[in-house]
Amino acid sequence: MAARKKLTKTQIKQFRESLLEEREQLVGQVEGLDAEADVKRWRDGGFDDDPADSGSASFERETAQSLSRHARNLLVEIDDAVRRMDAGTFGACERCGEQIDRERLDALPYARLCMDCKRRDETGR
Ligand SMILES: [Zn+2]
Repeated sequence: MAARKKLTKTQIKQFRESLLEEREQLVGQVEGLDAEADVKRWRDGGFDDDPADSGSASFERETAQSLSRHARNLLVEIDDAVRRMDAGTFGACERCGEQIDRERLDALPYARLCMDCKRRDETGR
């Protein structure tokens, strides 16, 4: 297999722009979800004594909390990817150092591992 081409500066810049855009959306999402979880917590605190209603409020609260947690994790991944761009290691697999496939980066710009390592990771090495 031919060596994979390294990313050009322009490509990295494009990735950075789309990451920063996604980051901004996520920050908005986290704020919205946290506010929602807060409202639900308040409602859940016995304000409404219909048990069915309070059950669904706590379900909604948990959903908002887990979505918020997920968005926060993504934010960490994005920040790290931007740091790797600054360090010049963006696009390289953290385990084997190979260039990560362009298609994979397009789908998941903050990917840390190449497909091979990722697969090995999932199957338990
Ligand atoms: Zn790898």
